[in-house]
Amino acid sequence: MDVIEPGSTIGILGGGQLGRMLAMAAAQLGLRTHIFAPQADSVAAEVAARFTQTDWHDTAALAAFAAGCAVVTYEFENVPVAPLGALPAGKLAPGTRALEVAQDRLAEKRFVEQLGGRPAPYAAVSSAAELEAALAAVGTPGILKTRRDGYDGKGQWRIGSAADCAGIAIPPSGLVYEGMVEFAAEFSVILVRGRGGEIRFWDSAHNQHERGILVRSELPAPDIVARQVEPARALARKVADALDYVGVLTLEFFATAEGAPMDGPVDGPVDGPVFNEMAPRVHNSGHWTIEGALTSQFENHIRAVAGLPLGDTATLAPRVVMDNLIGADALDLARHLADARAHLHLYGKAAARPGRKMGHVTRVGEA
Ligand code: AMP
Repeated sequence: MDVIEPGSTIGILGGGQLGRMLAMAAAQLGLRTHIFAPQADSVAAEVAARFTQTDWHDTAALAAFAAGCAVVTYEFENVPVAPLGALPAGKLAPGTRALEVAQDRLAEKRFVEQLGGRPAPYAAVSSAAELEAALAAVGTPGILKTRRDGYDGKGQWRIGSAADCAGIAIPPSGLVYEGMVEFAAEFSVILVRGRGGEIRFWDSAHNQHERGILVRSELPAPDIVARQVEPARALARKVADALDYVGVLTLEFFATAEGAPMDGPVDGPVDGPVFNEMAPRVHNSGHWTIEGALTSQFENHIRAVAGLPLGDTATLAPRVVMDNLIGADALDLARHLADARAHLHLYGKAAARPGRKMGHVTRVGEA
């Protein structure tokens, strides 16, 4: 594909806050966006030039949408793959293979293992007998996860013993049982890969989760993370190259080390990162890059899919902290804006339901 001209339209599959931030980055580059999503109340469509609201399986609408776009990308990894056959060859970036791999936790783990990555010990579960066998093989404690459609800790059950499995229905697409990783910290590797295969990485933040939801990403990451970033990047690079990926790709990891402290120097041998999951898209743990990096993940994703040169990913300050605003916490504007140096982002969602990501605040350069 050639470089797309200013004024061209980029199609975005998915209408959430990631699409909203991609659309704003595209606008800065003189590009228009067209959102394609099933929900009527799309916060991405509010800042885009056009909106097609229809079912993912509406192939006639998909074809018409693609005809008006120079390139089509996605902000949501659970877009059904089959209808995307309605798009002309080469229009979609990243491609469908990345979606297929990332939509299925089992396929994802196998794919990453083939490339030398190390997930937590796991077993596939499609029946009660397999569940019993999985607990015996992997051991407890562990986490049972739906293979498909889980996000932000949804579709997950913590299992301390076999009794905790009572009442868990096994969906037709199956489950994966994972051993509980005793991690010192969580981090993500976020990269952008251009059309020519060039890869740039952002610094890896230390990600903190509560009840399966990201609450904070913080730089610099502690030593235990810094020590594991290189092998994690090497794996992420292999994943991106194997998929001939174009755009921003995220891999999430657990940093492990026997008895290692979360903060302070790590003297002993480090175990190496444990792969958790990947997202074929811009990621919540990269929101800090909007103000904290020379080029944000959103801008570089647009640049990559548009065939433009990639921007520098360097971090701009010694310390950057991004806090998610979840549920009603987002409504306390006076508190969020009390710090005149804080960058407040609200996604324009109407209802501040518990557990819902409503916005985030980034602080750059604080002590
Ligand atoms: P996931 O949606 O798979 O990323 O899981 C959400 C969060 O649950 C992760 O970021 C971890 O904090 C926790 N978690 C998931 N899987 C495991 C595991 N195998 N061991 C320990 N913690 C986990």
